[in-house]
Amino acid sequence: PESKLPSLGTTIFTRMSALAQQHNAINLSQGFPDFDGPRYLQERLAYHVAQGANQYAPMTGVQPLREAIADKTAALYGHYPDPTSDITVTAGATEALYAAITALVRPGDEVICFDPSYDSYAPAVQLAGGVLKRQALQPPHFRVDWAHFASLLSERTRLVILNTPHNPSATVWQKEDFAALWQAIAEREIYVLSDEVYEHICFAKEGHASVLAHPQLRERAIAVSSFGKTFHMTGWKVGYCVAPAAISAELRKVHQYLTFAVNTPAQLAIADMLRSQPAHYRELPAFYQDRRDRFVQALANSRFEILPCEGTYFLLADYSAISDMDDVSFCQWLTTEVGVAAIPLSVFCADPFPHKLIRLCFAKQEATLLAAAEKLAAI
Ligand code: PMP
Ligand code: GLN
Repeated sequence: PESKLPSLGTTIFTRMSALAQQHNAINLSQGFPDFDGPRYLQERLAYHVAQGANQYAPMTGVQPLREAIADKTAALYGHYPDPTSDITVTAGATEALYAAITALVRPGDEVICFDPSYDSYAPAVQLAGGVLKRQALQPPHFRVDWAHFASLLSERTRLVILNTPHNPSATVWQKEDFAALWQAIAEREIYVLSDEVYEHICFAKEGHASVLAHPQLRERAIAVSSFGKTFHMTGWKVGYCVAPAAISAELRKVHQYLTFAVNTPAQLAIADMLRSQPAHYRELPAFYQDRRDRFVQALANSRFEILPCEGTYFLLADYSAISDMDDVSFCQWLTTEVGVAAIPLSVFCADPFPHKLIRLCFAKQEATLLAAAEKLAAI
């Protein structure tokens, strides 16, 4: 058939993980932990399966999970979303992002995102008939130039997509960024899609700035999160989004025909986990900061230059002192010849990205990180 997405291939995550496997390389490419999530969560899943919670969940998610999400949101961001009308449980954040874009973007609408940007946004915008305008951010801080942002706005702008803590740059937005965003869009009917899947993996002193903490912006926003990241269970594919009732109603029209509902026992288990073990996500920054610091330390006498990391479980490494290969070739070489798989940054950018940066995932056991660092330090 004639392709609707002619320039799209298989995702970089699938390709790099396959290459890592083929060459028996240590896989620091695709973002997932090489350790298991909490035993308690696994036991609750088994419990709910044994109790017979094995039929369709309500379309919007099981009530105990939506209530637990509402309470967590109120405690962290000072806003209590209505569990009935404002919270929708989705098949991972990926589904939430797709449903949000499909619900909001009409043919010819313009959507602004910030490059490097997560790879699922652009195809969803394209399939909805939208036009993506990508504002390039520059290393090492990847901060938004708000004057330039304002110049991208037009009568057709419908949606802004942002991601904080940011994959792949590991930078975070401050409250001031949200204030600047609000100032830029307040007078126009523009919506905000805030990808906050790493909300609990934030090392910034000020903590995670959520769009939900901004009283005006949250009236126009869909905030997306993922339990895969928070509970080290990327394979469970349970995420959610929070948005005001009118926006949620539109999003649910898509969700009900995309997946209808999400795995019932997993939702119930996650609700139990949120209720009885809130320490898990409260301690997550310290948990990952420790891993980050050990990995950075182990790379200290390598020839890589490590960029600051304020959130996510990714670290950027500059290899200018090692090679003048482009980043895609370098990652290929690193996987096949050195035995460590990483992700090139240029694949997240529309414009040429001349920097020599790779992304390394540190959601790994210490032994994995040390073994990888040893190989990386030897080149
Ligand atoms: N957004 C970002 C920025 C991500 O890094 C990821 C996954 N790594 C997702 C969305 C998708 O999350 P999920 O696995 O819950 O679909
Ligand atoms: N989001 C993960 C990453 O950035 C990968 C998710 C996927 O493989 N689709 O590595």
